[in-house]
Amino acid sequence: MERTIKPRPLIHPNIECAGVLVVEDNAIQRANMVCQLRELGVHKIYEAENGLVGLNIVRNLYQPPAIIVLDLHMPGMDGIELAQHMVPEGVRPYLLLASAVEMSILGSVEVMLEALDLPLLGILRKPFHLEHLQAAIVRYSTMNLAHRERLREPPGVATTATSLQCALDKGYIQPFYQPKVKLASGLVTGLEALARWVEPDGLAIAPESFIDVAESYGLINALTLRLLDTVLQDLVHWHENGFYPTIALNISAYSLSDRNFPNEIIRRVERARISPSAVVLEITESALVRDVAVAIGTLGRLRLKGFGLSIDDYGTGFSSMQQLSRLPFTELKIDRTFVSGANKKHNLRVMLESAIGMGLKLGLNTAAEGVEMPQEYRLLKSLGCQYAQGFLIAKPMPAGDLLGWLDEEQQRINELCLI
Ligand code: C2E
Ligand code: CA
Ligand code: CA
Repeated sequence: MERTIKPRPLIHPNIECAGVLVVEDNAIQRANMVCQLRELGVHKIYEAENGLVGLNIVRNLYQPPAIIVLDLHMPGMDGIELAQHMVPEGVRPYLLLASAVEMSILGSVEVMLEALDLPLLGILRKPFHLEHLQAAIVRYSTMNLAHRERLREPPGVATTATSLQCALDKGYIQPFYQPKVKLASGLVTGLEALARWVEPDGLAIAPESFIDVAESYGLINALTLRLLDTVLQDLVHWHENGFYPTIALNISAYSLSDRNFPNEIIRRVERARISPSAVVLEITESALVRDVAVAIGTLGRLRLKGFGLSIDDYGTGFSSMQQLSRLPFTELKIDRTFVSGANKKHNLRVMLESAIGMGLKLGLNTAAEGVEMPQEYRLLKSLGCQYAQGFLIAKPMPAGDLLGWLDEEQQRINELCLI
């Protein structure tokens, strides 16, 4: 009887980009697995006949595989050893264990993977069925942090003022939005607009390739105001659909020293009939350290109009409590270097706790960026942090994806504290 599996699962972009590594010593079983993965639509597949070969493949890849299908019993380096070797090298792909050993042993393997903080996609009992492999591939999309964004490699040629001006004129510089969740309620209450250079083929270039150029060539105000115009249009559309998020916009230090810049922001927001209290301007801490005197004037005016003001990347600059208390901020946004791994590293946890405590003492909202793991999310909540943002919730996405994403993902986010 012919075996058919329909419909084929959608292959997650991470799997398409990074591929799947099959580590299996039995050549027939390996070939069978590769064949089944192909049948499911996976194109990029690497093969290894034991753990050591697998480890070398992982080490030599620019981007580690999204999934490793791992046989536990192999001559030479076995599956468990391979997993143990990858972690210190910072490689944490999803593991799909393939094994004929009894369930009790697999149970202890599960505990070990959890201790290593390696995500387990599932266990395939040998001989395995295509349906089980298919289910694991589908599960990857739900486990893999709602990854939606695919960024293009930075362009080979450097961005110039002319090419950036041209991209601005053509409307290629667009906001992508990253959701921000209120920890007390688990609801998405805000969005951060992050600049992307989107070419007609739809792939986006990250801001590190062009924000510096915009700042160096006097194009940053034009870029920010162009983004703001689009953000305000998107916001009006979301209001019409019953979604009322706050919107955070990144403001460069250069803009703070331009006296006319606040006027432009105020004028646009008034024209769109959006309340300034729905707009949060994020200013990096290092910008404040440079230009406190000028910043006070600009920020004071914007705050008087009702805009929210956030200290971005908090913890990476050298601002003192005294300095911060003189500035009219409403939010402290803790840099992701203090968030990532804070559940495991004592020193990070202490710094995170003290940043949250300081925010509370100064009467500021506290927000944490870079939340990637459920354990970090729960820690932030238990420490009294108010907002969280990070890949665990979602990567930045185009405006058009947002309402659909909310429909699909709000439930998962509500459950993050229950996991
Ligand atoms: P930022 O303001 O600190 O923005 C957060 C950055 O961290 C974003 O990178 C975001 O994609 C990334 N991120 C968010 N969650 C996670 C996470 O869980 N893990 C990790 N590893 N990264 C996460 P992006 O979009 O590449 O932006 C980089 C920086 O470029 C921004 O840092 C901001 O300083 C600057 N930028 C972006 N858009 C603008 C803009 O419109 N104007 C100005 N002046 N700067 C901008
Ligand atoms: Ca920011
Ligand atoms: Ca940051």
